[in-house]
Amino acid sequence: MNVIRFDKYKGGKHRAVTMSYDDAKEADFRLVEIFNLHGVKGTFHINSGRFGMENIIPPEKLSKLYEGHEMAIHGVNHLTLPYLPAHDMVKEVFNDRSEIEKLAGYVVRGMSYPNGAYSDEVVSAARAGGIKYARTIDCSGNFRQPEDFMRWNPTCHHNDAISYAERLVKMSYYTGHLLYIYGHSYEFDKNNNWSLIENVCDILSGDERIWFATNGELYDYITACRSTEVSADDKIIRNPSATDVWFSCENETLCVKAGETLYL
Ligand SMILES: [Zn+2]
Repeated sequence: MNVIRFDKYKGGKHRAVTMSYDDAKEADFRLVEIFNLHGVKGTFHINSGRFGMENIIPPEKLSKLYEGHEMAIHGVNHLTLPYLPAHDMVKEVFNDRSEIEKLAGYVVRGMSYPNGAYSDEVVSAARAGGIKYARTIDCSGNFRQPEDFMRWNPTCHHNDAISYAERLVKMSYYTGHLLYIYGHSYEFDKNNNWSLIENVCDILSGDERIWFATNGELYDYITACRSTEVSADDKIIRNPSATDVWFSCENETLCVKAGETLYL
């Protein structure tokens, strides 16, 4: 009997790591440089209403800076969304998305809640504004994939990331884990601890089993895994999505290509 497990990532990798940084301040230049040196990927959340303010990266520099990473939204004006009338929640999301898409040149689908504040109504408004996944600041302390992408809890803030990074690379057997780290790049300036994120990247980039992905790449991949259909006898695997899916079958790692069906 085959046992099918969707516990692999792109390329058959055993685990995934993603970074999530907010506010698009100047310190992102240094952070992105560190990520790029290590092959680490991140999603960056931008407030289009803050362009022109002190320490905020000018809009014309964003797409080059975040090339290879992901541009996402953080509300036009960084307002605490649960306090707003519902139509203004939608405006904060939709208008930010509209502005950031003009700079990014692709469909912007990600968000992080300003000040970490959300509610059921905010989630509905974000969905109505075209958002598919949104990060909270409610740290899960675990390596599980999100149940609900609109309430995507990170594993930890970067201040706690070294111990999680060490735990992840020490796990020899288990697969399917996801380490999700969030923060603000200016915190490294404020606390004079840029070595912290360099150490985290050093620990993780040495592990060949890790897939470094943006939030959006993870959303696409995990959603594709969850939409893959398996026959009752586990012998026919149908992938209706646009993303190749890797999975475990006994001790083997197999791939069912986008839009194809695999007969085992
Ligand atoms: Zn913020």
